[in-house]
Amino acid sequence: MSNGTPVGVSNGSTHIKGNGIPRELDALRLEAVHRDDHLKLGSGSARIGELPPREVIVEATATLLTRLAALQEAFHADGRHALLLVLQGRDASGKDGVIKTVYGAFNPTGVQVAAFGPPTPLELKHDFLWRVHQVVPSLGMIGVFNRSHYEDVLAVRVRNLAPESVWRPRFAQINAFERSLAENGVIIRKCMLHVSREEQYVRLKERLDDPRKNWKFRLEDLKDRARWDEYTDAYREMLSECSTREAPWFVVPADDKVLRNFLIARMLVDTLESVDPQFPAMDAAVREAARGFT
Ligand code: ADP
Repeated sequence: MSNGTPVGVSNGSTHIKGNGIPRELDALRLEAVHRDDHLKLGSGSARIGELPPREVIVEATATLLTRLAALQEAFHADGRHALLLVLQGRDASGKDGVIKTVYGAFNPTGVQVAAFGPPTPLELKHDFLWRVHQVVPSLGMIGVFNRSHYEDVLAVRVRNLAPESVWRPRFAQINAFERSLAENGVIIRKCMLHVSREEQYVRLKERLDDPRKNWKFRLEDLKDRARWDEYTDAYREMLSECSTREAPWFVVPADDKVLRNFLIARMLVDTLESVDPQFPAMDAAVREAARGFT
């Protein structure tokens, strides 16, 4: 893709398998963050300038979601792996929207969503990964985290809830934790939904004016907007420290919901296809017994 391509979106031209995705969308694909990417996370990378027509992206997303549903069925039956999708992003960056879209594609018995709010008194008495480990998906399951252990190097850092001597070593602790999960069959993909300051303003304003939504606001949400630059620094360091081969980060341009859903659906299809999930063979004794089934 030419100028204006956000960091982390590829200009490659490979096809996804068995797809039906038009070639004009070939360039729209997330790429994992590399340690030395020097991401700026400015407004420019929260959107893509020139996009194919929206109907094309919407239709392709529907195709991907149908494919995801089929892949999930096999993934669940196969049971060799779990998939963990971590969603991080500022308020109103679209975490709930992604969950509704992705979750909507799946059979609910194979998916679990965990949301992470401020830790409870009990959680605070444990190490920060304690509450996280308990909700890591088991084999065959797809787990989605709405916020995650990364709050412990983001909100905790920016709001000064712990000193640097506590939060900084967490980068290495998180990498070790995720490596251990990966070695035990958990495929990890992490998406930072990158919304621009202007778009966040529009979305927050809409929510503040809507009685069905404004009850959810916390004082911290408004304070966090004022700490925009501090969060940008915290996100940049988190992305560079914790994007690993076994648990990569992807920066998703999230100002445009249609594009955001397409990019995440495509990344998930690519991920599930890469493990080539298979339905197990029927048990031999059952097969034998089934011969006489009437
Ligand atoms: P959301 O804002 O995602 O809709 P909630 O309002 O329930 O969901 O809770 C999210 C809030 O909890 C955010 O302000 C987030 O920063 C905070 N939070 C999550 N984890 C932690 C943590 N480990 N330490 C401090 N705050 C946290």
